[in-house]
Amino acid sequence: MATLQETRINSHGFPVIDCYRCKGSGTYSFNQVDGNKCYGCNGSGLAVRRGKAAKAWKEFLEAQPSKHITVQHMTPGDVIAWDKRWVTVVSVEQGNISGHSETSYRDRSTDQTITERTPHYNYRLILSDGTDRTLGEGSQYRRKITATMYPDPADYTAGL
Ligand SMILES: [Zn+2]
Repeated sequence: MATLQETRINSHGFPVIDCYRCKGSGTYSFNQVDGNKCYGCNGSGLAVRRGKAAKAWKEFLEAQPSKHITVQHMTPGDVIAWDKRWVTVVSVEQGNISGHSETSYRDRSTDQTITERTPHYNYRLILSDGTDRTLGEGSQYRRKITATMYPDPADYTAGL
């Protein structure tokens, strides 16, 4: 018979119960890297309830703003760290192709090797301090995170 656990909520309002792995102790088998901290709950002893709640929690975590942004994902108004100062992106434009990456696989029906080439672009970035620079795709910068970038937990916990 399953034992019924009292449901609590975490700091974002998601329903949590004792961690499935460590039964709420926060500790599990010892290893050199993390000692005996439980991987299931990162030592908190709590886990978001399975099913709908866990799915909503995963979506909520994925919606958190990233501390870094690559040039191809920048939009005007983003604030990035540049020469140890915060500057605003004025414009970002895709430029010429800087190179290609290739991936190969065997096509089973024809027994041919198929090679796919993916182009990579340069981007021209103009910043509020007058910087005008061409950067390769994937160039990554720290970005300033503002309160409005965070998802509203209420949008995820409704109906849980
Ligand atoms: Zn645990």
